[in-house]
Amino acid sequence: MNAEIVAVGTELLLGQITNTNGAYLAAKLAEIGINVYYQTVVGDNPQRLEQVLTIAEQRSDMVMTIGGLGPTEDDLTKQIVAKHLHERLVVDQAAQAKIDHQAQLTGRMQSANNQKQALKIEHAISLANHNGYAVGDLYLNDHGASYVLLPGPPAECLKMIESELMPALKQHRAEKQVYVSRVMRFVGIGESQLVTDLADLISTQSNPTIAPYAKAAEVTLRITASAVDDISANQLIDEIEDKILSIDGQYFYGHGDDFSLEAAVVAQLIKHHLTITAAESLTAGEFQSTIGRVPGVSAVFPGGFVTYANEAKQQLLAIPSEVIATHGVVSEQTAIWMAKQAKQQLNTDIAVSFTGVAGPDELEHQPAGTVWIGIAFKNQAPQAYLYHFNNGRQQIRARSVMSGLDLVRQ
Ligand code: ATP
Ligand code: MG
Repeated sequence: MNAEIVAVGTELLLGQITNTNGAYLAAKLAEIGINVYYQTVVGDNPQRLEQVLTIAEQRSDMVMTIGGLGPTEDDLTKQIVAKHLHERLVVDQAAQAKIDHQAQLTGRMQSANNQKQALKIEHAISLANHNGYAVGDLYLNDHGASYVLLPGPPAECLKMIESELMPALKQHRAEKQVYVSRVMRFVGIGESQLVTDLADLISTQSNPTIAPYAKAAEVTLRITASAVDDISANQLIDEIEDKILSIDGQYFYGHGDDFSLEAAVVAQLIKHHLTITAAESLTAGEFQSTIGRVPGVSAVFPGGFVTYANEAKQQLLAIPSEVIATHGVVSEQTAIWMAKQAKQQLNTDIAVSFTGVAGPDELEHQPAGTVWIGIAFKNQAPQAYLYHFNNGRQQIRARSVMSGLDLVRQ
């Protein structure tokens, strides 16, 4: 937010007095992050004041006038601002009561001029004058420039800034605080490892905050920043995101609550015109079902194989029986053969294979959670990777699928 200070008074213009109120106000505004971009001085002249307001509100969020709130004929600031805003002037009851009280004490009749000091802009917040009678105004406008009207006498002006205006502006800014969140998604790294890697960042950070959350086979970080507007909040988030990526960027795959690893993978395949198939044992089709959720996958996925039993592996994928007999079904070689054969059968660019122990019982003396994932990519020699998952059958299958997607992503 930026402000323009408009000091009103011919004596200021002629250099008879110095704009000390403006200097004080500018320093106070800086303390709460409101930048003063312009300070204007204008004489007690209605037309020129109106001109100044018109220019000021085009280039500043807040226009703050000083002076011209007094009782005399030449004190016209409030009348001109009200007319400019198409606002009515109404009596501020507290200010009126104070003037009435003073009149009673002195036993003097009050003039119409004195009454004038109790007027406020109808839709403005009144700023009480603790050292005088003229009431100040804070007119907040979300669709155009906001206005602040302050009295000229330094004792009145400074006190009003200090005890009325600053608290009101701070409150207004606090109310205007926006919160922006961004979710970063990671795969191939556990929550505890990610939190350990980012421990320094997480513990020293108060705005934005970083909240890790482990989901099935992936971890998300929710980064939340508060600021006066979306742009500033996003800037804060960008800075933290850069730091996070410099530490664990290789595990990051995308943004957003609704984004998924399968969507990221399918988008990548479509972009590079790569087709994919899968041969699944322990996951029993879950990998294919998962990529099948993504709209548009048909462009890259012709179909695949669910080969649960050894016979199915032999019949559908033509895996030589000696491979399984020699190495076992949960083995690097079986995973490699499954990927290689699937890729060949459907003539795709990529094939992924899954063979392992979903549990709860062990298989071939290997504990539940032992999983080999094979990948065949174009003309490269197929490879297989060993994983050890836990937390029960469904987690083991889900994490196998996520790890398969992660292999493809790389
Ligand atoms: P009053 O009730 O005294 O008429 P006002 O709000 O109408 O107050 P002005 O008439 O413009 O204010 O100025 C009152 C006096 O306050 C001026 O004579 C001047 O001494 C002082 N003053 C006004 N503006 C400033 C300023 N920007 N910086 C310092 N002093 C100022
Ligand atoms: Mg005056």
